[in-house]
Amino acid sequence: MIKTDVVVIGAGPVGLFAVHQLGIIGLKAEVVDNLDKIGGQCIELYPDKPIYDIPAIPECTGASLSESLLKQIKPFKTNFHLNERVQEISKEKNNWKIVTNKNKTFIAPNIIIAGGVGSFEPRKFLIQGVEKFENNGIFYSIKDKNYFKNKKVCIFGGGDSALDWAIELSKFAEVTLVHRRNEFRGVEHSSQVARKLEKEGKIKIKTPFQISSIEGQDKISAITIKSEDGKTEKITTDCVLGFFGLIMKLGPIAEWGLNLEKKTIPVNTENFQTNKEGIFAIGDICTYPGKLKLILSGFHEGALAARACFKLARPNEKYRFEFTTTSKGMQERLGIKSK
Ligand SMILES: Cc1cc2nc3c(=O)[nH]c(=O)nc-3n(C[C@H](O)[C@H](O)[C@H](O)COP(=O)(O)OP(=O)(O)OC[C@H]3O[C@@H](n4cnc5c(N)ncnc54)[C@H](O)[C@@H]3O)c2cc1C
Repeated sequence: MIKTDVVVIGAGPVGLFAVHQLGIIGLKAEVVDNLDKIGGQCIELYPDKPIYDIPAIPECTGASLSESLLKQIKPFKTNFHLNERVQEISKEKNNWKIVTNKNKTFIAPNIIIAGGVGSFEPRKFLIQGVEKFENNGIFYSIKDKNYFKNKKVCIFGGGDSALDWAIELSKFAEVTLVHRRNEFRGVEHSSQVARKLEKEGKIKIKTPFQISSIEGQDKISAITIKSEDGKTEKITTDCVLGFFGLIMKLGPIAEWGLNLEKKTIPVNTENFQTNKEGIFAIGDICTYPGKLKLILSGFHEGALAARACFKLARPNEKYRFEFTTTSKGMQERLGIKSK
């Protein structure tokens, strides 16, 4: 049984920054995430993609942002419980009891749910024999774009991810972009760039086509695509990437008696508390009038939720607002030596 001030559910960017906000005011957090890595959507869905709207960071990637957030919370020596899903929560006197699918138990007066879209899974190809090639030729996300260097790659999908990766990988791989409609769903600029690259012979575009079969023994050798009117084409390829979006599954969060609104948790904007005292929701999983599903909004939400956690974790102490620039206490917690 692990006792702490706050259990943070979700090690996405918002959960990570909440740890920082808790740490500087002297609260300990334990972080649980059912993924095998830290960084949430940033690391799972777009580690190599550039992000341009993090305040004061003109450009970073999903991976570098996660790395910087981790660096920022290093002084707090936070424990991460990865590959563990928070399964159940229940009230025990003034505390919450939090139990994972591996039967690890936490006791804390506060829970911050930074669970993003819950446990998310990519929509997959629905053809026979596809499972045996998963992560061995068939991928639904890209962890390291260098893997595709000088390879033949077929990308399926019509949204931003399919277009962006087709454009990016065309710099060093032989790319065929396949979509079941003639029009792409992604931003207009990206479809224009893809069409331009097609004219220049840098990528091939096949529409309206869908995958109909995969060939290969230990690895993929070719695929066949089929149009609605029955026309088929065989394409030799090393890899197949499917970007059909995610299936959003709230998972166990839906069973905790929290008010829900379209798979998100309504909160008040004063402290991001849910309908249960001591349970807060921040980041993509929370909703309120005007909510923006942006990382920067999640950072603000975490800052306010952290201050509210203080009241329940230290009922006999008074919270005092301070700046990191001038607060000796905060600087000590951050391990900064006084000058
Ligand atoms: C392709 C793409 C590009 C984007 N670009 C931008 C951008 O340029 N700027 C921007 O601001 N935003 C961008 N976003 C959105 C941004 O990634 C999200 O707003 C952000 O990741 C939300 O962070 P979060 O910490 O709330 O949730 P997430 O990043 O979703 O992390 C939630 C974590 O909670 C875990 N979890 C869920 N349920 C449980 C449970 N029961 N037990 C344990 N763990 C659990 C999940 O495994 C996950 O790791 C983009 C998103 C995508 C998909």
